[in-house]
Amino acid sequence: MELELLYEGKAKKVYQSDTNVNHLILSYKNDATAFNGEKKAQFYGKGRLNNEISSLLFKALEDKGIQSHFIKRLDSSTQIVQKTDIIPLEVIIRNIATGSITKRLGIAEKTLFEPALAELFYKDDSLGDPLINDEHAMYLTGITMEELNGIKEEARKINQALMEIFASIGVRLVDFKLEFGRNRAGKILLSDEVSPDTCRLWDARTNEKLDKDVFRQGTGDLISVYEEILNRLEAKL
Ligand code: 5GP
Repeated sequence: MELELLYEGKAKKVYQSDTNVNHLILSYKNDATAFNGEKKAQFYGKGRLNNEISSLLFKALEDKGIQSHFIKRLDSSTQIVQKTDIIPLEVIIRNIATGSITKRLGIAEKTLFEPALAELFYKDDSLGDPLINDEHAMYLTGITMEELNGIKEEARKINQALMEIFASIGVRLVDFKLEFGRNRAGKILLSDEVSPDTCRLWDARTNEKLDKDVFRQGTGDLISVYEEILNRLEAKL
């Protein structure tokens, strides 16, 4: 039976599960986009790599007490997740300055943020995902101050857990983007994906970039660096 396609994003297709109304099937695509969709390419194998990496990371987070929408990996490029309504916020956590913050605020590359810096962006392609403050976030998404504080606190815990996971495979977690959604019971849960598409990952010894920046900047082969991350995670987790 054909599954019902609910939504197609830049990196994933979202299907309704045919066995449980509260479950979705996420299908990871081979497409890569950057600069709000201006740069596009296809990489054979990217969907499988991100599905496998994201599945391993969601499981490792669960082992560290962090819940998410993830239920299980289904096959090479799909996974089953709890149905959540995505809150249109991109929660960014930064441990090391690079990317948009260096240009926006004139902060020197590689400045360490201790404690990590949290930022909110409004998830809206037509507006180019603008940086917003807490009041904008509450106004635009309808979440309460308490919920927003809960999301930020959870994002910091996720940062701690992911830093430990990546440190164990010789990788520095530079920064990353999270999305949260509300499940049927009203609980706010980590959703979307955690992968080299959404995290900046630098080799701890050489500072080599092992994430989507190699595509954004045209400096390396996306598939081989994603494979490197998956191989190291599989050897450790
Ligand atoms: P920046 O704001 O420096 O461009 O990105 C900060 C971090 O969030 C990076 O790890 C980047 O990969 C992630 N990020 C920010 N916006 C997006 C987005 O729209 N899509 C994806 N996949 N990652 C994003």
